[in-house]
Amino acid sequence: MNEDTPTGDWTRGPGPDAVFAQFIAAGEFRIQRCESCHGHVFYPRLACSHCGSVELRWVRPSGRGVVHAVSIVHRRSEQGGPYNVVLVDLQEGPRMMGRVDGQPHDSIRIGLRVKARVGSAATGEPCVVFDAAGDADAGAGP
Ligand SMILES: [Zn+2]
Repeated sequence: MNEDTPTGDWTRGPGPDAVFAQFIAAGEFRIQRCESCHGHVFYPRLACSHCGSVELRWVRPSGRGVVHAVSIVHRRSEQGGPYNVVLVDLQEGPRMMGRVDGQPHDSIRIGLRVKARVGSAATGEPCVVFDAAGDADAGAGP
């Protein structure tokens, strides 16, 4: 698989969910970008959510985003303790669910700038997680 592989060919090969999972398993966070309207698409789809085109390609997003909503799920410590669930607006446009690592839960707030990476879920499966990006490199960073 390479970046020139169109995802719109639904007559064969794995579906977009499976392709996304394959990238994550390889340590790469990718989302789809529409060749027709240039919009970014997430969750993985067969057709563009903006214009309906099937010419979607897998690209590497910046990973940068801003927390849109946060929820702290309280569990007993013997069940693993509290964890957070966030909705992040990616710089490219799509909104995705994930969690923020390495931050006290009460410091995770709406508007927090974050950066995505591939981490692991509680089950050990690879998944996309977010780290606080800090205000210092907000906006114009590399
Ligand atoms: Zn489109």
